[in-house]
Amino acid sequence: MPKAKPPVESKPAKKNMKTKLPAKAVSKRKVTGECLIPPRAPDEVLQHLKGEGSKEEAQYIREYVENECRKDNERVTFLEKVKTEYVLGQAHDCWNVHTDKEPHWVITGPTNLYTQALFPSLDYTISFHLGLMLRLNSKRTGTEDPRMGDRLAAAFRRWEQAAVALDESVESEDIQAVGMRCREALLAFIRSVSRANMVPAGEVKPQTSNFVEWSKLVANAIAPSSHNEHIRGYLKAVAKETWQLAGWLTHAVNASRHDGTIVVDATHSVIEAFGAALIRQERKTPERCGKCGSLRLVALYKPELDVDGAACLSCGWEFRPDEESSNSEEDT
Ligand SMILES: [Zn+2]
Repeated sequence: MPKAKPPVESKPAKKNMKTKLPAKAVSKRKVTGECLIPPRAPDEVLQHLKGEGSKEEAQYIREYVENECRKDNERVTFLEKVKTEYVLGQAHDCWNVHTDKEPHWVITGPTNLYTQALFPSLDYTISFHLGLMLRLNSKRTGTEDPRMGDRLAAAFRRWEQAAVALDESVESEDIQAVGMRCREALLAFIRSVSRANMVPAGEVKPQTSNFVEWSKLVANAIAPSSHNEHIRGYLKAVAKETWQLAGWLTHAVNASRHDGTIVVDATHSVIEAFGAALIRQERKTPERCGKCGSLRLVALYKPELDVDGAACLSCGWEFRPDEESSNSEEDT
C-alpha cells in the first residue's frame, strides 16, 4: 500500500489573529489576551494516559506493526486500544498506533494495518476491514493457518478445486464430479502425511488408495496415548464416514447443491481435524501458557526467521523452541 505523508500537526496559533475569517465567524466581542491552541502532546506523554488494552496485547500489536513496517524501519511511539467491535460473533479490536513516521489503525480478527493518511475515519476503516475479510473468506482459501496451509498444501489445493467446482456447478452431474474431487483431496492428504513406519510390524502396508485403512494408521500416529483416545476415535470415524459420503455423491444421480455442500464441508472438516492434530504433534509448541495456564496464546510465526514459538496474551510469557531460557521461569 503506498504511504501518504502524515498529516501536518497543528502548530501554535500566531499571535496576530487578524487573518481573514468568514463574515459569520467574526464576533463583535473583543478577545483580550492571547488565543493559543496548544500543540499536540508528545507521544511519550500520551502513552501514560491511555486506558484499555493489556500490556501483552499492546506488545503483540507493537511487534506486528514494527514487523509490517520494517522496510521503512518505523518504530512505534504510541498505541492505544480504541474500541472492540463485535460482528457475527467475532471480536475485532481497533488500535490507534503512531510510529515515528505516521499514524495507523490496526484492526484484529485477522490483524491488518491501515495508514491513517489514507483511512482518516476509524468507522469507515472498520467497515472496509470487515468487507475485505468477508471477501477473502469467500475465496475458499482452505485454511487461515499458514503453517497448516504449507504442510497440507496439496490437499487444500484439491479441496479448493472441489469447492470452486461446487460454486460453479449447474447440473447434478457437476455435483457428482465434486464428490470425486473431494475423494482426491482426501487421498492427497493421506499422501502428504502417511509414512511407512506408521504400519505396525508384521502388518501388511495398505494400498495408497485405501483411504480408510491409512486414515486409521495416521490417526494412531498423530493422536497417540490414552489421553487422545477420544480424539483418535473421532478422527477415524469422521474419516471413514466422509470417504463413504463422498463416494455416495459420485453416484447420486439426483444430487443437489445442498448434498454437494455437505460433502465439501465434511471433507474440509476431515483435513482440518487431522491437520490440527498433525501440526500439534509436529510443532511441539504448548497449547497453554507455561507460566499462568492461560489458553490465550498467539503464535510467534515469522516465516523469515522460521521461529515456531508462542506468546501468552495474559501474562506475556514467551515460548521459543530454539531458546532454552524462555522455559527457565519455572525454575525460579
Ligand atoms: Zn500466561
